[in-house]
Amino acid sequence: MPLIELKNICRRYKNGQVFINALEDINLSIEEGEFVSIMGPSGSGKSTLLNILGCLDRPTSGTYEIAGRHVEKMSDNMLADIRNQLLGFVFQSFHLLPDLNSIENVELPLIYRGLSGSARRKRATAALEAVGLKERIYHRPSQLSGGEQQRVAIARAIAGDPKLLLADEPTGALDSKNSESIMAIFQDLNTKRGITVIQVTHEKSVAEYGHTIFHLKDGKIEHIENVANVTI
Ligand code: ADP
Ligand code: ADP
Repeated sequence: MPLIELKNICRRYKNGQVFINALEDINLSIEEGEFVSIMGPSGSGKSTLLNILGCLDRPTSGTYEIAGRHVEKMSDNMLADIRNQLLGFVFQSFHLLPDLNSIENVELPLIYRGLSGSARRKRATAALEAVGLKERIYHRPSQLSGGEQQRVAIARAIAGDPKLLLADEPTGALDSKNSESIMAIFQDLNTKRGITVIQVTHEKSVAEYGHTIFHLKDGKIEHIENVANVTI
């Protein structure tokens, strides 16, 4: 059973009197352990697709199964449970809370899981270690570089032990050196922990860390590219 299965997914927005088909008849399945990149021009539906995959939005029609659960008809609360239990999110602009230090930022989503303070601290510390930030756990975002802030955001995304990591332009605010180190972390999470990764990116060099690239155009999957991965 694939981790993700989309069948005939359409997402239509209404803009005044005008309807826009942001996604048209998307069919795709993604196995557990995959690393997928989504590319495409602005307006091609990348964010819409990522929002549906991330259970932040619902399709207008079609079915979406994640880990065997149909999500298209779920209530908002059930969608929130799916996000908390199965998913981790990473964004272009990090979305860290400026008044909290690294470990507090990473602990935040764990509060909703009913873990004790010491269990949260233990998990958050391990997650920050996993992204190489052991020495920065008491720094606030303003005291960290962009690359370090994104690593804190990744630690926050993985602290809850997600099956699937969803990233929206994770390297969009970073230079190429930091981009590479973020991709090395994704690769590590994918190969060593088996976390499935789906990322949206504009950068071909970043997309090629994935095993597969979905090319979107006008709300459709125009082409699926298999990346010939070089084993390091
Ligand atoms: P991308 O991420 O590839 O730039 P989007 O998924 O953001 O593409 O957008 C796909 C299409 O849907 C675009 O035509 C966009 O203008 C439209 N769209 C996206 N979000 C909304 C919205 N909330 N309301 C109306 N139209 C939207
Ligand atoms: P960025 O510009 O950093 O890539 P955006 O602010 O555009 O990210 O957010 C991308 C999408 O994720 C948006 O549709 C937004 O509603 C959603 N989003 C943003 N922040 C969060 C969050 N903390 N948790 C869940 N979804 C979020």
